[in-house]
Amino acid sequence: MSKNIVIAIDGPAGSGKSTAAKNLAKELGFTYLDTGAMYRAITFLALLKGIDEDRNAVIEMTKKLSLNLKYENGITRVFADDIEVTDKIRSAEVNSKVSEISTIPEVRAEMVKLQKKIGEENNLVAEGRDVTTVVFPDADIKFFITATIDERAKRRLRDFHLSGIEISYEEVKQNLEKRDTIDSGREISPLTKSQDAIEFDNTGLTPEQDLEFLYKKVKEELSKRN
Ligand code: C5P
Repeated sequence: MSKNIVIAIDGPAGSGKSTAAKNLAKELGFTYLDTGAMYRAITFLALLKGIDEDRNAVIEMTKKLSLNLKYENGITRVFADDIEVTDKIRSAEVNSKVSEISTIPEVRAEMVKLQKKIGEENNLVAEGRDVTTVVFPDADIKFFITATIDERAKRRLRDFHLSGIEISYEEVKQNLEKRDTIDSGREISPLTKSQDAIEFDNTGLTPEQDLEFLYKKVKEELSKRN
């Protein structure tokens, strides 16, 4: 049996990598994997149970949890022990806590195991913070997507407003900066550009332009192998 194709995309929050990864997966007919949704689900449950400050309790909970992701109609539906948490994992409270929870090595190890398994079973477009470096170091094609902090904050603010959440530009920007610092500065699996990743700064570009760039690169890379 031939090996599945894995396209891995990393980048900071608000860089547009989720939209780009979804569009690319659709265009290629591949499975889309949102690894951030997994860390968000763990964070939401830790907050719900009031154990978010208790590392060992978070680890225990993660080990026992059955986490399932179903991508349908442009949305990653997330089920934790068969209970749907899709909307709940996108709250401002989860946003503020998720990077801290994501620094726990045992939590990461459990998530990486799950992610690798999905990669073994599907042609995949995976996105996150460590998919080009730790989860799929041998990915067929890697991208590192960035944009300026102001552009990323504007995009996130628009998403919040579209979901009816009232929040200020400054608050969104501060949260992004805080997450950038934690995600890039943590000891285990920090967000960093893998040497063999194609860097793409999409400041000022539309999702359609992002897709055009990525799709062209993927076709070029894949055609070199045939
Ligand atoms: O991609 P998203 O913004 O939904 O990710 C939420 C958070 O989950 C990130 O800020 C990061 O702290 C964590 N994360 C991670 N590793 C990944 C994906 C997300 O640590 N592969």
